[in-house]
Amino acid sequence: MALVPLPLEKLLRQLGRLPGLGPRSAQRVALSLLQRPEKLGELQKSLAEVAAQLAICGRCGNLAFNHNAPPLCEVCSDTSRDSSVLCVVEGVADLWALERSGVFDGGYHVLGGVVSALSGVGPEDVRIPQLVRRVKDEGVSEVILALGASVDGQTTGHIILERLAGLGVNVTSLAKGMPVGAAVDYMDEGTLSLALQGRQKVA
Ligand SMILES: [Zn+2]
Repeated sequence: MALVPLPLEKLLRQLGRLPGLGPRSAQRVALSLLQRPEKLGELQKSLAEVAAQLAICGRCGNLAFNHNAPPLCEVCSDTSRDSSVLCVVEGVADLWALERSGVFDGGYHVLGGVVSALSGVGPEDVRIPQLVRRVKDEGVSEVILALGASVDGQTTGHIILERLAGLGVNVTSLAKGMPVGAAVDYMDEGTLSLALQGRQKVA
């Protein structure tokens, strides 16, 4: 007799691969959902809605509504923002953190990850070529690197610097003083706005 029924085993495997959820947390989540079948139905509906209605912004990599064709996010659609300044972030959560700080009114470029030799993630996997193309095509005058202070975040910054060299664009980085290893989305709004205002030229 199999202890875990087959359909549940499949769900556990999928949940266990999510960030922050190991096998034991996956088990806890799944069992709690099964005890409240109405919750399972609600979750199913939300997941289907997200899949149907949301897409990745074709320009910056932020989340966008699917009904725009091609998908364009709120930031990219807002013509009052300064599109000559691009802030490069690792993920959408970082973009949200910067927007909450309320001090930035330029555009974003969401990499969707950082380069990591250990995990086999190369520059082409994280939308760096798209960034270079935007800098060339969109009249960008400043690129702000707002990447985490982790080794991978810093490596990614160096690669971007190399790729943008010779394109005549100013490259700045969030002010030093960020806690070592800090992720942008974990910084409070005050720290983040200070880091942004005190950004330093790196190229
Ligand atoms: Zn966008």
